[in-house]
Amino acid sequence: MTRHVPALVVGGGISGLVCAYTLRKFGIDAQLVESSPRPGGVINSVTRDGFLLELGPQSFSSTAALRQHCLDLGISNELLQAPPRAPRYVLVDGELRPVPLSPPAFSPQLLDRLVGPFVSGIYAGDPERLSVRSSFPQLYEAEKVGGSIARGMLRVAKPNKGPRERPILQSFREGNETLVRALANKLGPALLTSTCVAGVFRQNDGSFQIRLENRDGSESVFTNSLILATPTDVTGRLLSHLDSSFESLLGSIDYAAVAVVSLGYFTKDIAHSLNGFGFLVARSAGLRVLGSVWNSSLFPGRAPEGHALLTSFVGGTTDPAAAKLNPEELASLVHREISPLLSIRSEPVFSNVTIWPGALPQYNLGHSDRLAAVAKLCSRFPGLWLTGNYLRGPAIGSCVEQALAVADEVRNHLTA
Ligand SMILES: Cc1cc2nc3c(=O)[nH]c(=O)nc-3n(C[C@H](O)[C@H](O)[C@H](O)COP(=O)(O)OP(=O)(O)OC[C@H]3O[C@@H](n4cnc5c(N)ncnc54)[C@H](O)[C@@H]3O)c2cc1C
Repeated sequence: MTRHVPALVVGGGISGLVCAYTLRKFGIDAQLVESSPRPGGVINSVTRDGFLLELGPQSFSSTAALRQHCLDLGISNELLQAPPRAPRYVLVDGELRPVPLSPPAFSPQLLDRLVGPFVSGIYAGDPERLSVRSSFPQLYEAEKVGGSIARGMLRVAKPNKGPRERPILQSFREGNETLVRALANKLGPALLTSTCVAGVFRQNDGSFQIRLENRDGSESVFTNSLILATPTDVTGRLLSHLDSSFESLLGSIDYAAVAVVSLGYFTKDIAHSLNGFGFLVARSAGLRVLGSVWNSSLFPGRAPEGHALLTSFVGGTTDPAAAKLNPEELASLVHREISPLLSIRSEPVFSNVTIWPGALPQYNLGHSDRLAAVAKLCSRFPGLWLTGNYLRGPAIGSCVEQALAVADEVRNHLTA
């Protein structure tokens, strides 16, 4: 890497990859530094024993920006779409009940039973602590319209337009990592892996000195435009040399630990049709499993012929102890809890467990105030930007949108 770069992006998850790629498309010679040998962050697809596993996100909602990226990267023909009307289930009173597709079928009681599972499904979070305004801006609007989330959603849903399609869920033939690989290929030598950013210092002229460490030692690079796309603990630590408040403010954003447990079975040993997306669990059900995705029902090529692949999530902020169990305990816990629900008659023939200690940021009460304070602090350091899943939504599509917005700001800054 040259010693002075026009823009340096730190963190090669989807946020950093999209930001660096977009800057380069704008003609800015941006470089991206990633600490691990593999880019992608929590997006990680691997094939084992004929099963195609997603160790992190299982799929993503199609958005205009993602579609455009796939076109640009030449991977649109690799996209797979989950059956748009595949039912989703919620476990209520010991039964898997389909979540209604059409608005009139919602009832306030069903909504109450959906909110908890929904929160676990997206944030692995605690409904008592999450900020509705930051976590679910549409629900927040609905509450303002209707006086409560339930009434608001019913009112928002009312304009009798008939059944609505759910957002389109997608993946790629070879898994979500296709997107990461394509971005990394386009970046080529502008992406430096196995290199950790160990320190950020402000120079007298306002530029940044970045200390990089890798197997061969350490070196410094300098930039006028620094974009940190790292989790909050790393970001806070790196910026603590600029102002110690970064560390305390960013450190106050909690993350939920989640274990992702994929189990493979012979299809003949599962009596349930597995026709659907999977299920979420109401807290009152008393299970430790937060929800399950029926991978092999959604996308082809996820399991060998005659097998099914089911991926369940355990942990979250309401059950932090679960993610501390060992992989064997987690696999047997999940098998024990999902078997009666799906009438599974045999032991799994395959299992894989991934534990993410900092899986998902929690948009807890006060989140927007914390972010406003972080933004105010950043504004004291022109040329510094933050992006990542703790800002405007953890979904892949939201990370992409946030990264694009930051790339635009960087371009405007550099051309001003
Ligand atoms: C289990 C799980 C399930 C999920 N399910 C879904 C889903 O179904 N649909 C969906 O849309 N989203 C889902 N998400 C959310 C989504 O995948 C993430 O929010 C998103 O991928 C985060 O991307 P990111 O780039 O912001 O962060 P990360 O992926 O965390 O990337 C940060 C990167 O920074 C690097 N880094 C850290 N420190 C340094 C350093 N000092 N120097 C250099 N590099 C550093 C890390 O190695 C990492 O690569 C899920 C997430 C998890 C964990």
